[in-house]
Amino acid sequence: MHFNILTVFPEMFPGTLGAGVVGRALADGIWSYKVINIRDFAINEYGSVDDAQFGGGAGMVMRPDVLGDALDSVKNPGKIIYFSPRGPRLDQKMVRGFAENPKDATYTLLCGRYEGIDQRVIDAYNIMELSIGDYILSGGEIAAQVFIDSCVRLVDNVVGGGADATANESFEIGGLEWPLYTRPSVWRGQSVPEVLLSGHHGNIERWRKQQSDDLTKQRRPDLIKENKK
Ligand code: SAH
Repeated sequence: MHFNILTVFPEMFPGTLGAGVVGRALADGIWSYKVINIRDFAINEYGSVDDAQFGGGAGMVMRPDVLGDALDSVKNPGKIIYFSPRGPRLDQKMVRGFAENPKDATYTLLCGRYEGIDQRVIDAYNIMELSIGDYILSGGEIAAQVFIDSCVRLVDNVVGGGADATANESFEIGGLEWPLYTRPSVWRGQSVPEVLLSGHHGNIERWRKQQSDDLTKQRRPDLIKENKK
């Protein structure tokens, strides 16, 4: 899995992606990335990559000539994604799709700044817009890290415990995960539910399923509707 990342803040990478299981996978060569500094394609020696909006209004827009040159510098772009609040909201099902063929998968991730990017770039390169949620970030870099982290952890051998570990999680199980407990079995007077100490796998599984169903019904009824579709 390879990611080309276009940003005006190259120092933000690998950032969070350098730690934990995803960081280890990076060191092991399971995935790789290349940062393209959009400023290298600036229109002048001051490093300008943006300009005022046609039609007026506050905020700057990233220029199409700069972004076009930056995109053209990528030899094998694969699928090009622009992180934007206007795109479909990334969810686990979409992540599964993006992570399907990790050996061949290449993504070019365009991180916006300011008010966003000139529409003509999106149209000319047939770019997919992708949102990570209904709120506004100051830039696409965090979104790119969310995208990479969620995809890479689905690649075999990245998360310990095998395919089971990534399959037994919220959203993957058709709802939210059950409550988790570990040692000590009594903590500040609170005991772990008896059934989890029973060693009876059938009962444990039933209890977890029930907890998961109840939590999902309470907190995310929308997920239940989604599963019925
Ligand atoms: N003017 C835009 C928001 C610009 S925020 C609008 O109203 O839609 C600046 C940049 O941050 C965007 O270009 C985008 O790359 C990134 N960004 C902000 N919120 C995001 C979100 N929810 N998901 C993905 N990227 C986001």
